[in-house]
Amino acid sequence: MKSLKENFQKAHILIIGSGIIGKFNALELSELGFRITIIDPAKQKNSSDAALGLLMGNMYQKRRGRSWDLRKQSIESWPKWIDLLQKFNYELDIKKPLIQLTTHEEKFKKLEKFVYENNNPNLQILERDSIIIKNINQAFKTKSIKGIISFDDGRINATKLLKTLDKYLKYKKIDFVNEEIIKIRKLDNQWFSTTKNNRDIKSDIVILCNSLKAVDLIDNLSHNIKLKPVLGQAIEVRINDAEVNLLALPKQFNINGKNIIPISKNKLIIGSTDEYSTKPEKNIFEKITNFLDKKPAWLINGKVTNQWFGIRSRPVGEPSPIMKNLGDGIIICTGFYKNGFLLAPACSRWVASEIKNYFS
Ligand SMILES: Cc1cc2nc3c(=O)[nH]c(=O)nc-3n(C[C@H](O)[C@H](O)[C@H](O)COP(=O)(O)OP(=O)(O)OC[C@H]3O[C@@H](n4cnc5c(N)ncnc54)[C@H](O)[C@@H]3O)c2cc1C
Repeated sequence: MKSLKENFQKAHILIIGSGIIGKFNALELSELGFRITIIDPAKQKNSSDAALGLLMGNMYQKRRGRSWDLRKQSIESWPKWIDLLQKFNYELDIKKPLIQLTTHEEKFKKLEKFVYENNNPNLQILERDSIIIKNINQAFKTKSIKGIISFDDGRINATKLLKTLDKYLKYKKIDFVNEEIIKIRKLDNQWFSTTKNNRDIKSDIVILCNSLKAVDLIDNLSHNIKLKPVLGQAIEVRINDAEVNLLALPKQFNINGKNIIPISKNKLIIGSTDEYSTKPEKNIFEKITNFLDKKPAWLINGKVTNQWFGIRSRPVGEPSPIMKNLGDGIIICTGFYKNGFLLAPACSRWVASEIKNYFS
């Protein structure tokens, strides 16, 4: 009888889609000894490429159910991933803490209640006279910003992370095919994935990590998985540095639903978490900077130096994300919507355990 390891080494796994989810799955599975191929026609210009890299785990207010379990598993796994990835880029780390701010009294009361009920020393209410609140109120010319701080949450530089994962994939000799899969079918115990150029790739397992397009490849009537596209946008703004020193502000924070990341003394990134259309808006600067009743002059006069967007997939009729073993050697990981970076470690851990079970 063959050992599990021998089975793993002989098995070929095809991962369709090379965003953050495809890459994490490829690395976790290659550590187990599988032969892995990733296929993607576009490598970049996906949702992962647009991400800000915020990892909001402990700040998540619901502390039970699947969504919390996945966050918890990811929070536990991130340090292991950082250790591993630092071999390929020693600068890669998670910048902490993460700060959530609001000007709405009701919202603040909810945040306060959440912190009191959790009794976690790494999750605190920011006192009105704390230096952080003072600096933020001063910079944004208001007195009404309040919030909480999580010393366990933070941000990883998404671009650096993706590049480091690519280096690691190369080191592990994982095949990358620059094509699109248009059809998959199973014949004689093997999966045949057909590319646009009419080439068949044979594998024992197929993992669908191709976001919105995943549903096009499966028999959707029997699986009944529905996804909708949701835009995510971000801008980089240059300000007149005489008015405010952005580096005196926290490394990353959220005010009334907008993520703000100062990247130098006079440049910051602002990203939007909730968007309802699928087309990037023309007046994005106006909309994305509209998170306070009154904007400070330095923000009104700011100049957009870069802007980008990504289309995230959001499940319809079920919670995000969709991680399902569809049976017969096919697994789907999609619908990560706002949290693909945060949840990538939990996803790859789950996929690995499903595949280990499949071969045992
Ligand atoms: C502006 C913005 C900011 C964000 N900020 C954060 C954040 O701070 N923190 C966080 O956790 N998340 C954030 N997200 C969300 C995060 O980016 C997504 O949840 C994550 O990127 C989803 O990854 P994915 O691998 O599932 O999909 P994708 O990155 O979209 O990758 C899917 C890949 O599949 C490929 N593909 C499609 N069809 C096929 C096919 N037929 N054959 C082969 N390949 C195919 C595509 O080319 C693509 O490369 C943000 C998103 C946006 C847009």
